[in-house]
Order: sequence, then structure tokens, then C-alpha cells
Amino acid sequence: MIITIIGTGYVGLVTGVCLSEFGFDVTCVDNVPEKIALLKNNVSPIYEPGLEQMIRSNSEAGRLHFHGDVAQCVPESNVVFLAVGTPSAASGDEIDLTYVFSAVDDIAPHLSDGTVVIVKCTVVPGTCQTVKERIEKLRPDLDFSVVSNPEFLREGSAIQDFMRPDRVVLGIHDERGREVAEALYRPLKLQDTPISIASLSGAEMSKYASNAFLAMKVSFINGIADLCEKVDGSNIIEVSEIIGLDDRIGDKFLRAGPGFGGSCFPKDTRALAAFARKVGAPQELVETTIRANETRKDNMARRVLETIGDPAGKTVAVLGISFKPDTDDIRESPALPVVELLIENGVKVRAFDPKAMESAAELYPDVIWASDPYEAAIGAHAVVIMTEWNVLRALELDRLREAMAVPLMIDLRNIHRRKEPTRHGFTYLSIGRDRAK
Ligand code: NAD
Repeated sequence: MIITIIGTGYVGLVTGVCLSEFGFDVTCVDNVPEKIALLKNNVSPIYEPGLEQMIRSNSEAGRLHFHGDVAQCVPESNVVFLAVGTPSAASGDEIDLTYVFSAVDDIAPHLSDGTVVIVKCTVVPGTCQTVKERIEKLRPDLDFSVVSNPEFLREGSAIQDFMRPDRVVLGIHDERGREVAEALYRPLKLQDTPISIASLSGAEMSKYASNAFLAMKVSFINGIADLCEKVDGSNIIEVSEIIGLDDRIGDKFLRAGPGFGGSCFPKDTRALAAFARKVGAPQELVETTIRANETRKDNMARRVLETIGDPAGKTVAVLGISFKPDTDDIRESPALPVVELLIENGVKVRAFDPKAMESAAELYPDVIWASDPYEAAIGAHAVVIMTEWNVLRALELDRLREAMAVPLMIDLRNIHRRKEPTRHGFTYLSIGRDRAK
């Protein structure tokens, strides 16, 4: 099986690398030449644990290639994956399908008879059918199939998630598409991964429903954390643990925090809500989740500002910028509104993140970027923990306190036990564990 993957982002690159690890011949294509140049030198343009080693080993084994030109690899391919971005439209909540359709237009002239086009992107129901019709229009005589294969991996554990997924979803419209897609995922089937077969639109819908449900769970527990802050003695960590023990609920996505961010939940919930309004089945729970999360992020930023008091002459150290640990992705990270509100109010911001500083520095040239948490804390009137990086769990608290002007820690991820920072002389504020004033 010869495979081409269009788009070398978090999903496309991980998919390509993992399929080459299965033994397939894979070429990854991107229209940003700098990314291809890096990849040809075995350097990953994104951070994902373990990815660079796998790029190197599979490239050296001759199974993984990188190219900037679809004309060079699509004609030979039995399978072409589309893994380009599907961001929110600049004009509103809807999904922007420009990149998908432009990639379709790029590949269509080069597709060969029998090729299966697999859509990995998260797209609103009906998109794969439109992709099929678009190719039919461009290549009326071509015999091809389209498969919807939404991806469920999480940044930070993407390789593990791809290699050991909870399920693989295949939306199909013909037998060839099904057979080829099932052959691709045979290594996973052999390890008992459920392969769910659906229609094209059923597969598309399942991805949105899944992300919206998880986002709703996060917003729910954030709301309960607010409630805990109003009730003496109640503690969100205990409450999450107790409700998570119920099999019907499950313990995942029940950690209270500063709101969900990243490249998926915010834009996917918006896209689903907009799609649902458009087709006349508005999703009130999803709409509320979106609003609740926006409010949450604003409230957390305000909480930080209010906690430091008069902002004049103050310095705050923001620890963690990426939307979650083990990724350099800062898209819609809840750390961004915190940094922005502090800067708007004249607070000097010093910051540290193990992987995300390069992209964040482009956005915030006024922030002082430090090489470790202790350097970030120098002269600070508060440290704010925004991401659950392990390095922030393992902080040397005395060393941190000694660097600071005022030993105040605002832990918006609840990564420390309350007693620890207090024992080391900090005033410690967290989420859903302290009575709100
Ligand atoms: P990304 O923005 O990281 O990567 C997209 C890549 O496609 C970029 O490198 C871009 O240069 C390239 N590209 C765009 N148009 C192209 C074209 N015509 N030809 C060649 N390359 C092109 O996006 P991502 O995060 O990998 O997401 C891809 C899709 O997967 C989206 O639909 C997203 O919603 C979905 N998804 C993402 C995640 C995640 O955690 N990031 C998880 C599941 C699903």
C-alpha cells in the first residue's frame, strides 16, 4: 500500500509516521516548504513526545518520505489522506473548509483509478459527500472512493493514542473504501481495537459529538468547582474523584481548571453549534458550554489580576503557556487571556514554558521569557500555574519563593497539594478548594 498524507500538522504527521511504523510506504506533503525542509532533515516542526525519533527511524528505513509537490507522489498512491486544518471561519463560528477544498483541488488532477481518499480532518456532516462530488466534477471519469476517518488523538500523547486508540471510526460509501481502510488499520484490529463502521456523515457527526461531550464535561466540573468555592469544606478534587468512580460518568475530563483551550474543543464546539443552528436543531448544551468556557477564561484572568491587588509596579510570573502539557500548541490556550489582561493593566509579565515559548514570544514581545520557572519568578509578586507540565509539579518551592518579591502562588491547575506550598511559606490559591472571599 502506497500512502500520501496531505498536511504535516499534529494529525497528518503523526498519522504518516505511525502508518510508516506499521510498514506502509508513506509520503507526507505540506505546502509550507520550511516544514518539508525540516522534516527531510529528520527535524519535527511540531513538538510531540517520541515523534522525532520515529521520523528518523522510519525515514532511515526508507518507508517515510517528505515532499512539497503532490504531483510527485499522488499518482502512485493507493490512499491519499487529507489532514489539513479546519479552523473557525474568520467571520464567525462556522468551520472554514477552505484548506480542505483547496487540498482536494490540488490532488484531484493527480489521482489514479482505484485510489481511496481518506478525510482525517474534523469536518461538519456532509463535507465528505461534498469532497466526493467535487472530485467527481473535476475528474468525471475517475473511479475512486472517499472514506471519513475522523481522528481522536490528543496532542501530548498523540503517538500512543494513534497506536492504541479506543476505536477507529470509518465512514464509508462503498466496499472498496471499507476494504482499503480496514486493511490500513489491520495492525490495530489485531490488537483488538474496535473498528466502527458508519456512513460518511455518521462518522463526521460522531467526532463532533464526542468532542462536544468532553468539552461539556470539562465545563461542568469547572462550574462545580465554582460552587465548591462557595461551600465551606467542599473540595473539587474530592468531588471529582467521587463522581469519577461512577462507571456511568468515568474519571476522565473531570479536572477543574482555567477552561478548555487548544486547537480542537473551542473550534469544534463552535462549528457544531453553528452547524446545528443552520440545520434547525440548535444544541443548547453545546451553546452553553461555549459561553461557559469563554466566561471561565475571562474570570480566571480577572481572578489573577484581582488577587495581586493594585497592578502598578507589579510583576507576575506565568508558568505554562501551552493549552496542555507535552505540546507546543498555544491555540486558544487559557494562558493567553491571563497574559493579555495582565499586560493591558500594566503588569510586567515574566513567563516560562518548556516547549511553547517560541510561538508565544511572537504573540507577546513585551513578555520577558525565562529559561526556567525560577528565572521567571525573579522579583514576582505572584506566580500563576497555567499548564500541568511535570516540571511545574516538581518545583523546588523554597528556591521559587526565594526568587520572588511576594510568595503568592495561584495554581489554576490544582497541581500542588494545598499543604505543600503553604508549608514552604507561600500564600496558595487554587481552584475549587478555597472558600471564595
Ligand atoms: P495543523 O494546523 O497542525 O496542520 C495542518 C497542516 O496542513 C499544516 O502544516 C499546513 O501547512 C498544511 N496544509 C494546509 N493546506 C495544505 C495543502 N493544500 N497542501 C499541503 N499541506 C497543507 O492541523 P492539525 O492540528 O493537524 O489538524 C488537522 C485536522 O485534524 C483538523 O481538522 C483538526 O480539527 C483535526 N484534529 C486535530 C487534532 C489535534 O489534536 N490537533 C486531533 C484530532 C483531530
